[in-house]
Amino acid sequence: LPLQEAFNIEYWLLEEAKLQRMPKEQPLSRKVALVTGSAGGIGLAIVEKYIQEGACVVVTDIDGDRLQQTSDALLKKYGKDAFLAVKLDVTDGKSLEAAMEATCLQFGGVDIMVNNAGISISKSFEDHTDQDWDRLNDILVMGQYHISKAGVKIMKLQGHGGDIVNIASKNGLVAGPKNVAYGTAKAAQLHMSRLMAAELAEDKIKVNVVNPDAVIENSNIWEGGWGENRAKAYGIEVKDLPQYYANRTLLKESVKTSDIANAAFVFVSGQLGKTTGNMLNVDGGLAAAFPR
Ligand code: NAD
Repeated sequence: LPLQEAFNIEYWLLEEAKLQRMPKEQPLSRKVALVTGSAGGIGLAIVEKYIQEGACVVVTDIDGDRLQQTSDALLKKYGKDAFLAVKLDVTDGKSLEAAMEATCLQFGGVDIMVNNAGISISKSFEDHTDQDWDRLNDILVMGQYHISKAGVKIMKLQGHGGDIVNIASKNGLVAGPKNVAYGTAKAAQLHMSRLMAAELAEDKIKVNVVNPDAVIENSNIWEGGWGENRAKAYGIEVKDLPQYYANRTLLKESVKTSDIANAAFVFVSGQLGKTTGNMLNVDGGLAAAFPR
C-alpha cells in the first residue's frame, strides 16, 4: 500500500481510519480536508462549513491555546469523529510531516488542502525590513508551497485527484495602503496557484483561489497595526472600519467569515469539477467598479 509505505503505518490502522468516515451522503462525505491556520477566523469558518457538508477535517494552527479552545468547542458541537486538531506551523517541515502522518492515521488519506494560515504586516514602503519580507514569504508563499506539496504527495498516491484551495487576498490584486510585502506575497500565492493548477491537472488535482475583501469579524490579522494603519489611511476611527468597508462595496454589506467559507466550499463541492487555476473574489463587487 503506497500510503502505508510513505508513513510506515500498519495496514489495519489505515483500514480502521477509513471506516470512521461519515457514512451519510453529503457533498463532502468520505472526503478528508486539512485547513491551515484554522483555530479561528476564516479558517475556522471553512472547517465548520466542510464538517457541516460531511467532510472529516484536520484543524491545524501554530497557536496551541487558540487550537485547544477551538478543539473543545468543535468536540461539543460535532463530536470526535468529525475532526482532528493538530498543532502545525506551516514553516516547519517536521510539524508538517507529523500532521500529515496523523491525518493519514486518523482518516486514511487527504482529498482537500486549504492554505489559509497567514499573518499581516502593515508598514510604509520605507519602514519594511528584510525580516518582514522573509516572515511573510515563509508563512504565505513557502507555507503554501510546502503544505500543498505534502498534500499532493498523498493525493497522487491515492490516485483519485484532489483539491487545493488557497486563501489569497484582494491585496494581491490591487494596492492596499501600507502593505507592500503582504500584497506581494498574496500576489505570489495567487500566481503560484495558477502554476500549480497547470502542472497538477494531469493528476486531476484542482487548484483554486479565494480572494477575500476585508473580513473584520473574528479575525486576528486586524491586530498589530493593520487595522490602525488602515483607519488612519482612510481618515476614520478603527471602530468604523467595518461600516467603511461595507459602504464602498456595490452590495453595501460587510464580508463575513462564512462568505469566505462558502466560496472555499463551492470549489470542492463537486459542482465545479472543470474549474481549476481560477479565483473567486468575495468582495461585495468591489473589484468590478470604481468606489461609489
Ligand atoms: P486570523 O489571524 O484570525 O487567522 C490566521 C490564523 O493563522 C491564526 O490562527 C494564526 O495563529 C495562524 N497562523 C499564523 N502563522 C502561522 C503559521 N506559521 N503556521 C500555522 N498557522 C499560522 O486571520 P484571518 O483573517 O482568519 O486570515 C486567514 C487568511 O485569510 C490569511 O491568509 C489572511 O491573509 C487571509 N485574508 C484575510 C482577510 C481579512 O480581512 N481578514 C482579507 C484577505 C485575506
